Amino acid sequence: MRRKIVAGNWKMNLSWDEAKSLLLGINNFVNRHKPESKVIVCPPFPFLDRANDIFIGHASVGAQNISEFENGAYTGEISGSILNSIGVHYTIVGHSERRKYFHETNEQIGEKVAMAIKKGIKTIVCCGETGEERESGNQNNVVKEQLDVALKNISPEDMVRQIIAYEPVWAIGTGQTASPSQAQEMHAFIRNEVLEPLFGADVANEVRILYGGSVNSGNADDLFSQPDIDGGLIGGASLKLDDFTSIIHAAE
Ligand code: PGA
Repeated sequence: MRRKIVAGNWKMNLSWDEAKSLLLGINNFVNRHKPESKVIVCPPFPFLDRANDIFIGHASVGAQNISEFENGAYTGEISGSILNSIGVHYTIVGHSERRKYFHETNEQIGEKVAMAIKKGIKTIVCCGETGEERESGNQNNVVKEQLDVALKNISPEDMVRQIIAYEPVWAIGTGQTASPSQAQEMHAFIRNEVLEPLFGADVANEVRILYGGSVNSGNADDLFSQPDIDGGLIGGASLKLDDFTSIIHAAE
């Protein structure tokens, strides 16, 4: 049985005061309800340390990005060892906004994943096709290429602890969700046609594959009840306590 994961990606949003009250709310909720699913919240970098102080017990904190470099003269970057030193043990890697606005390539994302693992940080590796790529029927090839390159140097033992997030670009922040069957089809493809050839059936069966792209309290139930959807990576709806906690409920 794969334990579901609900991860919130706050992106570049909220002031510290707003962040603090949301973190306190999430912390209260998870400690009161002790959800079966794993809850991870990824706030902006400056809030990570304080978020870690607020979260006691059931929820974890993650970064939204990590450097592919070890340490040194890389102004503005954050390394895995820096994250690890403040007790942050998760990071998102290769989000489509990083690919689009910061020109991250599959190769670079692969380096980030390898460095994160080396530093003891678990990754949420994002993949997903654009609307154009789906319209031309190319979505499977695109996602396979993204993951084949990003996961190239990972051992099966390390892969078991990593998380994949399938986020079709056309569904992110648009209110246009992939249908549960469209998402399920891609998740099964990722598990059976991408992860299994790379890491074997046992590992492929254990890796959690999250869906992301306009998940909300109304559609989470249907998405999370699909056999290969192991939870969600939530953007907009993770910024509101009621929405985020309903989505955590939906993962029960
Ligand atoms: P969204 O974002 O839920 O606002 O569509 C998801 C994401 O980008 O991770």
